[in-house]
Amino acid sequence: MTRIRSRTRPGGRSRTTPLPAPRPDWAYFFDIDGTLVDFADSPAGVRLDGDLGPLIERLYGAADGAVALISGRAIADIDALFPGLRLPAAGQHGIERRDAAGRVSRHAFPSQLMDQAYARLTAAVARHPGLLLEHKGLSLALHYRRAPRLAGLAHRLMHSLQTRMGSHFCLQTGKRVVEMKPAGKDKGVAVREFMQEPPFQGRTPVFVGDDMTDEYGFAAVNRLDGYSVKVGPGRTAANWRVADVEAVLAWLDTVHL
Ligand SMILES: [Mg+2]
Repeated sequence: MTRIRSRTRPGGRSRTTPLPAPRPDWAYFFDIDGTLVDFADSPAGVRLDGDLGPLIERLYGAADGAVALISGRAIADIDALFPGLRLPAAGQHGIERRDAAGRVSRHAFPSQLMDQAYARLTAAVARHPGLLLEHKGLSLALHYRRAPRLAGLAHRLMHSLQTRMGSHFCLQTGKRVVEMKPAGKDKGVAVREFMQEPPFQGRTPVFVGDDMTDEYGFAAVNRLDGYSVKVGPGRTAANWRVADVEAVLAWLDTVHL
């Protein structure tokens, strides 16, 4: 069973208590990398724990379909990770979203600008082996997890690109990655959109994530008096904390059916 940090309650009091077991009448939002699966050298290199698919499927059944994956990955990439499951999902940090009925919506923006940015970055990245540039369709990710010493360079490259691209675009930093995406959507917006629709509507939301982009999700569920759960160390707006991916899976395994 996972333990959590002190939870600060309204009025400044705090308590330490275990995260309650997952309930079938909650609405679940999960980040993927660093939350449900461990990091690998590249996004394509992750390996799923054999128990994960069945665990998520069981929760999906128990919660009447109120389970969504909220990831920086593109939805197509999410589906490839979970073959046979087509869960409600928000991809690319909320830029694209598939609702519970399977309808996909994408945030409109001038996509040719993203292609121009990609071309520019490709030239720069070619000079620095160790950087990995990923065009996710509606966003660009520059990973430096294979070469952490290139962090400063990666951030400078993306910052100068974003300055050039203007306010339609924003940067999202994460664990050894810096991304550029259209402004206006984030994981918190995705949670709020899901929560206005069945089968999520009216339930208590739970958001589980590990990275800076997940803070938007934590803030959204905090406002809805839900459960925000941070995986691993680091400053966070989440009210609960679990140690690692393994602890998340162990917690999910305790769902009361
Ligand atoms: Mg993550």
